Amino acid sequence: MGRTILHVDINNFYASVECLEHPEYRNMPLAVGGDEKLRHGIVLAKNNIAKAYGVKTAEALWQARQKCPQLVIMPPQFELYSEYSARSREMLGRYSDRVEPFGMDEAWIDISTYAPTEKDGKCIADEIRRRYRDELGITASVGVSFNKVFAKLGSDMKKPDATTVISQESFKQTVWELPVEDLLFVGPSTARKLRLRGIDTIGRLAVADKALIRSWLGASGEKLQRFANGIDDSPVMPKGAEAVIKSIGNSTTPPRDVECEADAVALLQAMAECVAARLRKERMLCTTVVLHVRKGDLYSFERQTGLQQPTRIAVELRREAVRLLRNSWDMHTPIRSLGVRATGLISENSPIQLSLFEDEAARIRREKAERVIDVVRERYGKNAISLGAAAYVKELGRIPDFEDTPLSDCAFYTGM
Ligand SMILES: [Mg+2]
Repeated sequence: MGRTILHVDINNFYASVECLEHPEYRNMPLAVGGDEKLRHGIVLAKNNIAKAYGVKTAEALWQARQKCPQLVIMPPQFELYSEYSARSREMLGRYSDRVEPFGMDEAWIDISTYAPTEKDGKCIADEIRRRYRDELGITASVGVSFNKVFAKLGSDMKKPDATTVISQESFKQTVWELPVEDLLFVGPSTARKLRLRGIDTIGRLAVADKALIRSWLGASGEKLQRFANGIDDSPVMPKGAEAVIKSIGNSTTPPRDVECEADAVALLQAMAECVAARLRKERMLCTTVVLHVRKGDLYSFERQTGLQQPTRIAVELRREAVRLLRNSWDMHTPIRSLGVRATGLISENSPIQLSLFEDEAARIRREKAERVIDVVRERYGKNAISLGAAAYVKELGRIPDFEDTPLSDCAFYTGM
């Protein structure tokens, strides 16, 4: 039997919440911007009025002000957005116990059991949109389809406050004309590879030679091609499924061995950034950091350390990983591969005892700065911003792109 899946995407989430909290700015161009003092002065979100002035997400605040001098810029209030996000999830939970959040402002819902047809699905989607308006005061776009990938695509097609149905019968007419990067998990680097070979639409990806796709993109390319053909049976995870994640890790085998500390630190920094971003996305903190090292002679070992303070700050993860490495490596025996894993995961809602030693305010600021980077990377790809190591790492070799990896293959869900 076919499935009915909705994907709900709140329109201009941060900016909508700010307009709700500050009605006096409702009819003015508004942007939510990172802290200029932290040198991450960029646009994180904007309302539709600012959009009409050409203000773009991820551009510098000074550029946005040039386009729109009267732009109201609000600092981000992530705690507040989390509250709205929780209310949104609570509302969706009334429709199904299968609600799978995707970031703060998006979620899939499986309503197959009581909405077996697209028509039923559309009715419920429209009702959900009405409830967002009436109960939360914000608008959402909803995609209705027979799988998760197309439901997500549908919610992107009409904005704001609209329902888009993508059906088994008609998806080739609607979906296949779209640019290939509109497909979920086609990140900037995959899109570049495909476009270089003339595959610029989802339809062209769907009908391309399977062996060629595999040779260009590997197994994840085949998966993307199946998505383009509407083949995606990944389930909408039931509430609380995220609790089964026991660890989040990343490892890499660079094309040449690591033989000096600077190389090792650069790799650990890049991996720590990935792991921290995943922790934030999963709304978790870790209490233990594990370093994995495989040497040139294929001998491998792991070292781990417990943390005084649960964390999801990349700088802290790297610091611990580097400390573990310094205690276990002579700094010149060639290393074939390195990995960082966060374990002892706890929910961000767990009560945490504040440290007497660390400056908690500084930690909160650091995490906020890293969250700003998450937003930019989510939209523009992993390499859009780096805390400093990316250029170095590029030279050493590629860190696996999680933006390009279908969720079910994603190493971050299984540890290493
Ligand atoms: Mg959104």
